Amino acid sequence: MKLPDAARFATICIHAGQEPDPTTGAIITPIYQTSTYVQEGLGQHKGYEYGRTQNPTRMTLEANVAAIEGGTAGFAFASGMAAIDAVLTRLQAGDHVLVSDNTYGGTFRLFEKVRRKFGLDFSYVDTANLDAIAPAITPKTKYLFIESPTNPMLAVTDIAAASDIAHRHGVRVVVDNTFASPYIQRPLALGADIVLHSTTKFLNGHSDSVGGIVIVRHDDDVEWMRFVQNAAGAILGPMDAWLVLRGTKTLPIRMERTNANTMRIAEYLAAHPRVSRTIYPGLPSHPHHALARRQMQGFGGLISFDVGSLDRAREVLGKVRLMALAESLGGVETLISHPAVMTHASVPMERREMLGITDGLLRVSVGIEDIADLIDDLTQALG
Ligand SMILES: *Cc1c(COP(=O)(O)O)cnc(C)c1O
Repeated sequence: MKLPDAARFATICIHAGQEPDPTTGAIITPIYQTSTYVQEGLGQHKGYEYGRTQNPTRMTLEANVAAIEGGTAGFAFASGMAAIDAVLTRLQAGDHVLVSDNTYGGTFRLFEKVRRKFGLDFSYVDTANLDAIAPAITPKTKYLFIESPTNPMLAVTDIAAASDIAHRHGVRVVVDNTFASPYIQRPLALGADIVLHSTTKFLNGHSDSVGGIVIVRHDDDVEWMRFVQNAAGAILGPMDAWLVLRGTKTLPIRMERTNANTMRIAEYLAAHPRVSRTIYPGLPSHPHHALARRQMQGFGGLISFDVGSLDRAREVLGKVRLMALAESLGGVETLISHPAVMTHASVPMERREMLGITDGLLRVSVGIEDIADLIDDLTQALG
């Protein structure tokens, strides 16, 4: 099972970082559910000392996703939030981070309610508007933190162009690639310095694990992330690492189906008389459609649409049968949610309106069920 040097994406997903188990030949990396490792003599061990510091299942996942994203090393954490927080520990009090506005709510909360107390400064711009980036960079700016596409408005940032701007100012670029998945875009290849995921979503893909991962390319970032993962200790457990490893094997085939299903739903909703607006980067009506075509391989599994009012939204949510009313995204099953009441309730109403998160807006994370059943469900729910 030697991975060819020129192996392509789907092959990397299945094989990278994985060797048959040295003891038994098991083709699948076992769940090393152990807290410590017996040492042969003082100072003599097999490279494994303590479960927080090294775990073979976790390290296999880290090597796998590092290869998938094209980075030099990966570091797996207990959640996506823990991964984002670990990336912030690279900074010092007084440093500034420029962030895509309309970022994931949990990220906004971490930045504003936790890390600001420790002297970090954050400001928010529409990074989809490249002209807004340079004027917002200050001498203290250390990171440009990009999310693309965003939730739930699916704004797309030109990662290559934004990285150029940041690098001209000596600023490193961090991309939260959770919404796209590395099948759809690989930010490091576009110029970003650090990429991270909530593995809870597309990487695991089966709605049965919470986790996060950071992939880096520069030696100083590798060194720091290795240090802080052990020092702060928010590691991903072996059982979850194993689940995500199983998930990445089918990432390409799941994303192909996700892309195809979501495009079909977008076309269906865009033509539906009771839907006032359909937001999907794959539709020519989306303001960033041309960029999405260039930057992304397919347009992903998230789609938002407006049914006009909170009452109508409630009615549709009450009628869906196959689609489950739930937060989260990126699993094989289709989920539908109401951003204004569910994920974005903490965003003040004026700001929600400014961002376009109206009371009639619904968001679907499209799964890989048969498309005809999904369309049937929408048809009966929209009435
Ligand atoms: C879910 C999510 C997170 C947080 O990840 P958790 O695993 O829930 O901690 C961060 N960013 C984005 C874009 C997400 O969708």
